[in-house]
Amino acid sequence: MENPLSAKVIKSRLPTLKEKSRRYFIKTYGCQMNVADSEKLAGILDAAGYLPAESAGSADLLLINTCVVRQHAEDRAAWYITSAKGLKRERPHLKIGICGCLVTQPGRDLKKQFPHVDIFIAPNQPEKLKEFISSSTKASLWSPFSILDGEGKKRPSPRSGEGGPRAKRVEGEGLTKYLTIMQGCDNFCSYCIVPYVRGRETSRPIDEIIEEFKKLDFNHIKEIYLLGQNVNSYQYGFANLLRTIEINVGVGEYLPWIRFMTSHPRDMSDEIINAVAESHNVCEFFHLPIQHGDDEILKKMNRGYTIDYYRKLVDRIRARIPGASITSDVIVGFPGETDDQFRRTLYIIEEIGFDAVNTLAYSVRPATAASKLSDDVPQKVKDERLQEVMQVVEEVALVQNQKLVGTTQAVLVEGVSGRTRTNKIVKFVSPRNDLLGRVASVKITFARSWALEGEISDG
Ligand code: SAM
Ligand code: SF4
Repeated sequence: MENPLSAKVIKSRLPTLKEKSRRYFIKTYGCQMNVADSEKLAGILDAAGYLPAESAGSADLLLINTCVVRQHAEDRAAWYITSAKGLKRERPHLKIGICGCLVTQPGRDLKKQFPHVDIFIAPNQPEKLKEFISSSTKASLWSPFSILDGEGKKRPSPRSGEGGPRAKRVEGEGLTKYLTIMQGCDNFCSYCIVPYVRGRETSRPIDEIIEEFKKLDFNHIKEIYLLGQNVNSYQYGFANLLRTIEINVGVGEYLPWIRFMTSHPRDMSDEIINAVAESHNVCEFFHLPIQHGDDEILKKMNRGYTIDYYRKLVDRIRARIPGASITSDVIVGFPGETDDQFRRTLYIIEEIGFDAVNTLAYSVRPATAASKLSDDVPQKVKDERLQEVMQVVEEVALVQNQKLVGTTQAVLVEGVSGRTRTNKIVKFVSPRNDLLGRVASVKITFARSWALEGEISDG
């Protein structure tokens, strides 16, 4: 019988390099910006030899990337963080980190509220994660390795696909890559917490963005979102950036579609509209949050434009790029909003004919200018206005979508559905299963408010 302590036996019991790898799970709340931040964190962990876990329950490191834009988002993240305490009880070696905007929210004592959390990483502070994992590794704080709680069992290898499907590094990961071109915001819209939690606006140099572009694998990435709170105020010229990307990365069928988000209406110039019109890969899609239909409320919101200005801006876009889709965000129930003022939001949605609108009920955010105003629209009224505005958005979106019935659209295939250049979802039946990630021609046969239906006419 072999000596149980012989070097050979000990060696055979040691986890292999692959098995030794710790696993991470990132739970992401909020906007595309947060998804981009989660991807950055995932990149750091990948580089350090971590593997993505399929669920929080099988992770050694759980990162919760939070959003505090509205109370509801904040509450959901806080609930998840609290419930992660149970996971730690079951797996005491689990490390938990909170990332994102909750960390920098004014007036919070997160360490006191969540004593089971090991690390707090503010937005734009990914290097803190690097420090944390290297110090944890040195101090062997993380023993035992995950192999020990399943020794002997074949463990799934998400990367190779062995033992189960490949785990996603970040929720929402697929054909789309979110590429942050700027951080923070200087606009201080009176209702918004973003400038307080994400800091002042800074733009990444063009060269750095182009370098990141060139490293992307265009065999897998088919759509790129250029992200910033207000890309139109990109320091080195947003039109210049769009043109430089096209010159440096080239144009063509096999290169990704490019979209950008978010555009502040005040800063949308003819130069940017022209750059979109003249670029081959930049899609005819403008997310242009109007926020409200009444000038007095827009002023109280500190948005810096009037409804008449917005109307003319949309005319300029549509004159230069016929068929461009225009989507928006609106807030109902801002302090002091009268019924007449609310109705102006409904009218402008109908008049503009938006392709889609995110509708949100006003939520008081600490430290913002609007938090000093009385939140005097009762919740019941906010809820009713939200229902009403959603109904109008549905009707208007349906009218917009019906205009496409009978046309043939280029559709980026994502499975049994895909999206047009104007970002409309198209569902289709395809006899072919080799179209994933490719652009197919689809004849539109039917329209709903939120999606189109069609038939593939060629791949
Ligand atoms: N920077 C972008 C812009 O200016 O449109 C959007 C950023 S914000 C994270 C996304 C949306 O959340 C905003 O367009 C706004 O409609 C909504 N939002 C922000 N603060 C809000 C609040 N306190 N209550 C309700 N909605 C809010
Ligand atoms: Fe918030 Fe306004 Fe900045 Fe958008 S532009 S992030 S709404 S402050």
